Amino acid sequence: MRTILVGPPGSGKGTQARLLSERLGLVQIGTGDILREAIRLGTPHGVTAEPYVKNGKLVPDALVNDLVADLFRREDRPTQFVMDGYPRTLAQAVAFDQVLRQQFLNLCAVCRLMVDDEEIVRRLSGRRSCPNCHATYHIYMKPPKVPGICDVCGHQLIQREDDNEATIRRRLGVFHKNVSEMIPHYQAQGLYHEVPGEGTVEKIHTDLVAILKQAGPKC
Ligand code: AMP
Repeated sequence: MRTILVGPPGSGKGTQARLLSERLGLVQIGTGDILREAIRLGTPHGVTAEPYVKNGKLVPDALVNDLVADLFRREDRPTQFVMDGYPRTLAQAVAFDQVLRQQFLNLCAVCRLMVDDEEIVRRLSGRRSCPNCHATYHIYMKPPKVPGICDVCGHQLIQREDDNEATIRRRLGVFHKNVSEMIPHYQAQGLYHEVPGEGTVEKIHTDLVAILKQAGPKC
């Protein structure tokens, strides 16, 4: 199965992508994670991307398209995957179509997690994550056992620099603009689905799996 999860920052894309990866064996491709790793390693792409990511701005399409195209050109390229945070613009969607066409891969579904903006602000401003193992927490909704410490690996948790309220609201504005340009592209291909994103993690997962199953034999 090959799917794209679309949703504003904090809509639970990462959580749902991880579940689909664990339970359906899909490769999780998170461009945010790839970029943060490139920044940590100081690669040329990482150096270019760093100021954008730090300020919660979208990295230029060409850079992120390059990273994804590279991944799909490798010998161990994924054939069953869940895209988590890519494509985010119409230009990225068009570039991704081309990458997939070259690999003779078709998409099964594009699933958009629907979450209200105010809920996003509440969620993101309390979000904490582990820079070591990437586990995520929320100070109210999913606190770690020891405040500030990762339950999984004991590392000190961090708040991402792009998770402050002003930046979150700006990112939401950018998301709405880009998504309204990108979605018609997938609607025209009959791939677009909306999933309520404010239920429990399990309910949302069940809804996503139902959509993927419906995609049927072509996937
Ligand atoms: P995320 O972890 O998906 O919220 O992504 C974190 C940051 O990485 C974003 O705020 C952008 O700066 C950058 N980023 C991730 N994916 C993309 C993308 N598809 N296009 C442009 N920038 C991206």
